[in-house]
Amino acid sequence: MASGLPPPSGPSVTDGLNATTVMETDPRPVGIFAPDGTLAYRNQAFLDAVFPTRSHGQLRPIPAFAAMVDRVRRLAADMDAGPHSETTTFRVPARRTFKIDYVRLDDATAPEALGGGIIVYMTDVSAEIDALREAEADRLRLSDLMRSSADWVWEISALGEIRSISESFSEIVGYPVQSLKGCRFDEFAQWIEPEVGDITESREFRERLPFRGFEFNVPDTIGGFRRQRITGVPLFDQETGQFLGFRGTGTDVTLDTSSERMTAQSQIDLEATLEQLKLRNADLLRTLEEAQSANLAKSSFLANMSHELRTPLNAVIGYAEALESGVLRPDSDKYRQIASDIAHAGHHLLHLINDVLDMAKIDNNQIDITVEPAPVGDILRDAYSFIMLAASRKRIDTRQVLVANGPWVRVDRVRAVQIFVNLLNNAVKFTPEGGQIGVRVGLAASDMAEIVVWDSGPGIPQNRREDIFSPFIRVKDDAHTQSGGGAGLGLTISRHLARLMGGAIEVRERDAGGSEFVVTLPIAEPGQTTDANVTSLPPRGPTAG
Ligand code: ADP
Repeated sequence: MASGLPPPSGPSVTDGLNATTVMETDPRPVGIFAPDGTLAYRNQAFLDAVFPTRSHGQLRPIPAFAAMVDRVRRLAADMDAGPHSETTTFRVPARRTFKIDYVRLDDATAPEALGGGIIVYMTDVSAEIDALREAEADRLRLSDLMRSSADWVWEISALGEIRSISESFSEIVGYPVQSLKGCRFDEFAQWIEPEVGDITESREFRERLPFRGFEFNVPDTIGGFRRQRITGVPLFDQETGQFLGFRGTGTDVTLDTSSERMTAQSQIDLEATLEQLKLRNADLLRTLEEAQSANLAKSSFLANMSHELRTPLNAVIGYAEALESGVLRPDSDKYRQIASDIAHAGHHLLHLINDVLDMAKIDNNQIDITVEPAPVGDILRDAYSFIMLAASRKRIDTRQVLVANGPWVRVDRVRAVQIFVNLLNNAVKFTPEGGQIGVRVGLAASDMAEIVVWDSGPGIPQNRREDIFSPFIRVKDDAHTQSGGGAGLGLTISRHLARLMGGAIEVRERDAGGSEFVVTLPIAEPGQTTDANVTSLPPRGPTAG
């Protein structure tokens, strides 16, 4: 077909003569059309691409050929139109894509028939299109994957500014991620792990190291926080090696961490409850033991009391009957002895009954005291008068009981005498015949007097020294049980009274053997006026056993 054309002259493609030459050497399919759309010249490549099949000995063009001819005609008719380019997919014989450029031939140089004709270049861009299509498919696949995943992806620049962050992150924080582009993480998140202001301050970021397990909190739209855990890898320019930033994935771990925290908390709660239970159990056991021993003490007290009460009562009744019988003369020694024994038994009974009544008042918080300044010497003298007889009966040396000059103390005088009667009475009771008892007065502190009642008796075993201040408790060894009766209430009552007056009672071992009961009482200035409390019950005088 090209043989009818003049030989080529000059390099211009738009020159119709040269066009045929160029066309022959161009590897692309090239065709030259007359303005009416007739294909005037074409190279072999054009023939292969546009007329791939034959039918009844005739070349058959691909369907797109008609559109090409149509385009040529319209461009030829429009004298103002410039070069035109379009991309068309040709399906025959294989799926190939061509970019088609239409260029108008110059009237002056084109052969007569082709004045205003169009030269068509077809460039095969199938490979590029396929690659583009592949890339787009990849992108779609990835974005589908990311959309269906609860995790999110992120990328930040070398300055830590967000370049991209996936849509799933919007669902977590509750606002569009577009607003985060260009922000740094620290502008909307608080780093927990590592503890940094921003990720760019972390060692991994500074040293361009991959990381995992970084965590931060982001506020959600309902006033709470969502915990995110991210992994990341550094990005470098493939050619220059320049650091470009980081990229990675993120996971919402709010539920994990809160349930981890809840589990840990319930573990702690459980342990605390267990500890409390153990303590309560120990309390309960102690209370039970106390109740049992109080119960035991009360039972033995009752058994003891019936004996304690019956013995002197029987004596009183027996002696009274003897007197009544008139056998004895009132001026006889025997008569006087019996009268004295009756009085002794009566005092003992009164003492027991008073102790029991006092104990009942202590239990009901009914003991009231009236404090006034009183000289210790006077109190001791009064108390001594109650135990004098019993001491002399046992030939006990009491020369050191009375003190000439003692301090003044602020006490309820009657109750103070009661305390020392109890202590001196015990000293006499538990010290064997011919022993020694005494009192020492000193200062416990600048405002406290210390009055020590001592004896040369058996002493009190170390492990019982606190017990004896509990009600009904009595030491049961030979030395004690031989020393006569008692309800086991005297020390309980005495300590209670001392405390009511702002003082105390303790017991210790005497260096030379025996016991020392140490009473501390507040010191008063001599003659200080009474600071009276109203008493709900009339005070009573102490009694000796
Ligand atoms: P009671 O003397 O009536 O038994 P107390 O409460 O006065 O009751 O004393 C309790 C117990 O303390 C006595 O039974 C005795 O075992 C012991 N005790 C008290 N004072 C002395 C003492 N001075 N020496 C030895 N033991 C004592």
